[in-house]
Amino acid sequence: MFEARANFNSANGKRRILIVDDEAINREMLENILQSEYEILTAADGREAMRHIWEFRETLSVVLLDLLMPVMSGQEVLRRTKESPDVRHIPVIVVSADLTQEIECLDMGASDFIQKPYPEPGVIAARVRRTIELSEDRQIIQSTERDPKTGLYNPEFFVSYAEQYDQHHRETDTDAIVFDINHFSVLNERFGHAYADDVLRRMADKLRELIHDSGGIVTRSGADVFQVYCPHRDDYKSMLDKLSLHVSGGQGKSQPIGIRMGVYANADKSLGIEGRLNRARMAAETVRGSKTRSIGVYDDGLLKSELLSRRLVEDFEGAVGRGEFVVRYQPKLDIQQDAPLLVGAEALVRWQHPELGLLSPGVFVPLFEENGLVQRLDRLVWEEAARQARAWKRAFGRCVPISVNVSRVDMYDSDIVEALQGIIDRYELDASELHLEVTESGYAEDSAQLVETVGRLRSMGLVIEMDDFGTGYSSLNMLATLPIDVLKLDMRFVQTAFSEEADNGTHMLGAVVDIARHLAVPLVAEGVETQEQLDELKAMGCDMAQGFLLSEPLSPEGLGARIERLAKDRSGAGTNTQGDARGGTSPESPAPSPGHKRWWEHLPAISLRHAELVAVILAALVAIAIVIVSSGVRQGIDNIEDANERFILAQQAATDLEMGSDYLTENVRSFVMTGDVQYL
Ligand code: C2E
Ligand code: CA
Ligand code: CA
Repeated sequence: MFEARANFNSANGKRRILIVDDEAINREMLENILQSEYEILTAADGREAMRHIWEFRETLSVVLLDLLMPVMSGQEVLRRTKESPDVRHIPVIVVSADLTQEIECLDMGASDFIQKPYPEPGVIAARVRRTIELSEDRQIIQSTERDPKTGLYNPEFFVSYAEQYDQHHRETDTDAIVFDINHFSVLNERFGHAYADDVLRRMADKLRELIHDSGGIVTRSGADVFQVYCPHRDDYKSMLDKLSLHVSGGQGKSQPIGIRMGVYANADKSLGIEGRLNRARMAAETVRGSKTRSIGVYDDGLLKSELLSRRLVEDFEGAVGRGEFVVRYQPKLDIQQDAPLLVGAEALVRWQHPELGLLSPGVFVPLFEENGLVQRLDRLVWEEAARQARAWKRAFGRCVPISVNVSRVDMYDSDIVEALQGIIDRYELDASELHLEVTESGYAEDSAQLVETVGRLRSMGLVIEMDDFGTGYSSLNMLATLPIDVLKLDMRFVQTAFSEEADNGTHMLGAVVDIARHLAVPLVAEGVETQEQLDELKAMGCDMAQGFLLSEPLSPEGLGARIERLAKDRSGAGTNTQGDARGGTSPESPAPSPGHKRWWEHLPAISLRHAELVAVILAALVAIAIVIVSSGVRQGIDNIEDANERFILAQQAATDLEMGSDYLTENVRSFVMTGDVQYL
């Protein structure tokens, strides 16, 4: 009748049923009727029945239950069975002479009621079969409609329920909302899968609770993305606060867990459910990585930007052909000189779009990173920068190293080494005249291939700069395995350090300068906008700086003029004109005094072992401790006096570093601010 489904079968291929009756004759009669089709278990009282139910809960297909029994009544067996989450799925057919019990038993969760004296054997067999069928179907539906990890609806069911909801509530305004856990993969690695799963479950439970009353529904899509469809509400902030609080308190840890939220409110119902969720996702993307905002709300501006994205992708090909991509060069200056000295420049691309005007790379680079076009764009920029460098060398007899940006996509391209070698050969450059700026996130995705590629690029003589250091997920521990020649401190890091709120921010900066010094890598500070920032960075010992204070990105002619001046100052050494930080109107300072080590001439190869890294971190912590003493924050200093403890701290810090500099900055920042060693 119904085909065998493996997981519902008992060991010998028949479904297993339990007959409970205190009268032996009744048990035998039922056994006779059912034994050809089922494997039979019997019990003579309620207690024995409960034992069987527990023991065979995974494979029991149905229970036939008498009501009037010694020791424990059938009603009690029914109540206990239906109250326990582990066994309530087992259907129970009550078999009784007392018809007045029928409604009560069905209310308590019985699946069927058979009256004594027994009806025709065929009727009994049919009703047992039917009950099993219904229960198995329900379980199959539940197992496909629910996400086994969280018990939430799976995305397909979610969409179909949402559509049904719309059909029945045409007049109701609805919201599509998306929640996304920040750095979920880091949580997974740092605290293990069991913890991460618990976070997901807590998230699911709380969301279900929060939207339950309004009739909304929730699903999990992807590892850590939760989608909600619900009647319109406006308590997004309080919703997110409650959720974060609940999720952060799992497994006895109180580990702050960031969640970002994207809202598409009063959704346009002419759009499919997926379309509405897309808009919510777009809104959530707008707050990704933001330190201050965690809720993004969709508006039509966002849609416009979506349309703009599509347009830019379509225009790319033609723009390459028409030469619309132009390169600007932003000077890097050695700030340890009396007057800042030009020591390099970063090539930054712009798009001179015929209709949209001059577009900043912030508009199109992230977009082209998504679809891979960035690879073509980057090669174009490398080629142009190399061509320009040769032109300067020919015109002025020298050039400063030009740094080009290398996106993550490029790093995984097997041709990158050959491509760069080709460019260097074509434009007769020395490899060290080309620097590669690789972002932190490029490094964070640790892979043997990446390490190998960087190694090959370096062995060609190219100089590797780690871009945007100090904010992303980079791991300082990558420094231990990856060869890096220069660290570029991200501008947000510099700017927050000097902002009003960050009263200890510059100490943090000092700590990073110290780490760079201990690693013996030159450090470039980006985004230097004020004299105060420059003075402070110089005093701390930061080697180089780049930023609007010193110079905006320049046209090729603009940078050419500065290189020319540098070349002249060099050849006419002794003129000793003072350089000027601003705008490039005054000459660069003369060559530094003999004996001063120029970083690009003596690039160290850093490739530390773990133990060395620990020592470096230890040294940095001691440096931070000194900062703390000097700033009067004494608490916690006693704790680090013990060398042994320091070693443990350093080890813990190193482990943290493996998880990403986020943890470094958070932990060290907290350490600097509070002096609380335990925190580490
Ligand atoms: P980035 O590599 O971090 O480049 C530094 C950015 O900071 C540049 O923006 C520069 O103009 C800006 N900047 C410099 N000094 C200051 C300052 O004092 N204050 C402020 N607020 N900003 C300053 P830009 O040129 O808009 O480039 C943005 C990003 O686009 C770059 O960030 C880089 O990630 C990417 N990019 C630029 N050109 C290329 C390229 O050719 N290829 C790739 N893959 N990415 C590129
Ligand atoms: Ca860069
Ligand atoms: Ca940067």
